Amino acid sequence: MNCCNEKSVIALPSGEKLCKNHFIVYFEGKVFRTIRQFDLIGKEENLGVALSGGKDSLTLLHILKRLSEQNPKIRINAIAIDEGIKGYRDKTLEKAKEFCDRNSIRLNIFSYKEEFGLTLDEILKILNVKPCTICGIFRRYLLNKKSRELKLTKLATGHNLDDECQSILMNQMKNNIVASARLGAKVGLIQNSMFVQRIKPLYLCTEKEVTAYAFLNGLLEEFTECPNVPQSFRAQVRDMLNGLENKFPGTKYSIVNSFLQNLPSLKQRFKNEEVKACAKCNEPSANEICNACVYLGKLNNILTGVK
Ligand code: SF4
Ligand SMILES: [Zn+2]
Ligand SMILES: [Zn+2]
Repeated sequence: MNCCNEKSVIALPSGEKLCKNHFIVYFEGKVFRTIRQFDLIGKEENLGVALSGGKDSLTLLHILKRLSEQNPKIRINAIAIDEGIKGYRDKTLEKAKEFCDRNSIRLNIFSYKEEFGLTLDEILKILNVKPCTICGIFRRYLLNKKSRELKLTKLATGHNLDDECQSILMNQMKNNIVASARLGAKVGLIQNSMFVQRIKPLYLCTEKEVTAYAFLNGLLEEFTECPNVPQSFRAQVRDMLNGLENKFPGTKYSIVNSFLQNLPSLKQRFKNEEVKACAKCNEPSANEICNACVYLGKLNNILTGVK
């Protein structure tokens, strides 16, 4: 079924086909409904947006910028992490800078090189570890620390429905139920002044929808992917889910929707999880020493020849 007489640009899992204008209205409506449904953004915020320069974060910033124009009490700051991935992050950060310049948005960039002494590319030559494992730990660490230092009230990330669906399945496959309890459009288990609340306004938008929105709005001309993606467990789960979605449209929605029904009881079950201050850096941690300091210690030992 087509929305109108205009040429359709996307088919929804329901079978409905939308033209460009109707799709944009549908997509933005879904993001604003998600914000209301999960109570993601208050009337007054100093909101951070994690910006990588990829389709998800540019789409998110494009929409939240509009929200802030309608409500000046919602201030927007972009925050980007430069992991140091040659030929990839340098290009997406260019996009991020261009976008922020064009839209007069303050962009704060923090790099692994400056904060940890090495780029991700350099770290991977030293440590025998899956790239996304260490990259994710360092990125979450810096995003939280810098958001807190910048006095951001919340940090919005570009995670979409596909990302959430992959995380749900990955946690199941790894039997990591507490990681699942931290998921949802409002991330985490407890409110703690050491954590800046992370929110996911694109939570109910599929990757296909976000990609279409980004291209239709001229936010992106080409699709770039991190060279480390093929090595990741997430990429395997992503491909499996895409195969299932092709055969059984709506699979991803069903997985996330059924997860959402269990999420409140999961959060309740783990709400008393203890948060300590890392003995080395004082950042919040589930263990005596946080994961970032554990890896920094390993790197230091190798570089200084300590066994
Ligand atoms: S794909 Fe992995 S290595 Fe690349 S930026 Fe993402 S987490 Fe880092
Ligand atoms: Zn239409
Ligand atoms: Zn630490």
